Amino acid sequence: MQKLDQVYEGKAKKVFRTDDPELFIVDYKDDATALDGLKKGTIAGKGAINNQMTNRLMARMERAGIPTHFVRELSPRETLVKRVEIVPLEVIVRNISAGHFASRYGVEEGIVFDQPTIEFSYKNDDLHDPLLNSYHAIALKLATPAEIELIKRYAFAVNDVLKAFWAACGVTLVDFKLEFGKTADGTIVLADEISPDTCRLWDSETHEKLDKDRFRRDMGGVEDAYTEIMKRLLDHDAE
Ligand code: UDP
Repeated sequence: MQKLDQVYEGKAKKVFRTDDPELFIVDYKDDATALDGLKKGTIAGKGAINNQMTNRLMARMERAGIPTHFVRELSPRETLVKRVEIVPLEVIVRNISAGHFASRYGVEEGIVFDQPTIEFSYKNDDLHDPLLNSYHAIALKLATPAEIELIKRYAFAVNDVLKAFWAACGVTLVDFKLEFGKTADGTIVLADEISPDTCRLWDSETHEKLDKDRFRRDMGGVEDAYTEIMKRLLDHDAE
């Protein structure tokens, strides 16, 4: 599949057109940003890890009946995906308090919830991705009520699959962010990535952070954490 002109460059990925108008190629970069874009850096090897981790997890979602944009992996950093129009919502599911949940509500990190929470933010860099609820999303015509219901259902289903998978790898799934897209025929599918950039993953025994918080919080050992989490995935995925 031929890479044609670049359609988009985001913080962690570039997207290219192909000779099929319904297929795009995503190319994962090692660049990392945090704190609303204020902190910038690179994490060596991240692009390849996030690409391959996302693809394996997307394939798992498909097997669980959750439709995704994934088509096939082309190279360590590149993947063929369905062209989608991204629904401008960041969909965040949480099992344990951390990050903005902890700071916003003034609680410590690590409180295990009786049931997962879901929240949306409006994907809009100029407005700094403000939090909104489903009524706001519908009022702003970001999605229809039926689409919001489907997105919620898929997001909790992703949580069930991911939580069980990571638990089997000795990893606790704390929280994560998803993005959904609409294909040419209007089908809602899971898009973007599922990686240590977009999930909080703690070692189940030691609670050591194995995700982008090591970069956000200048904790060191960033590359090692990404390598370790990929190794755990591959060890388990092969079984
Ligand atoms: N997250 C993300 N992109 C964002 C904001 C959050 O991937 O722009 C992920 C983040 O990695 C975490 C979850 O969503 O796994 C919840 O993040 P939170 O709202 O606590 O914000 P953060 O502290 O990560 O900015």
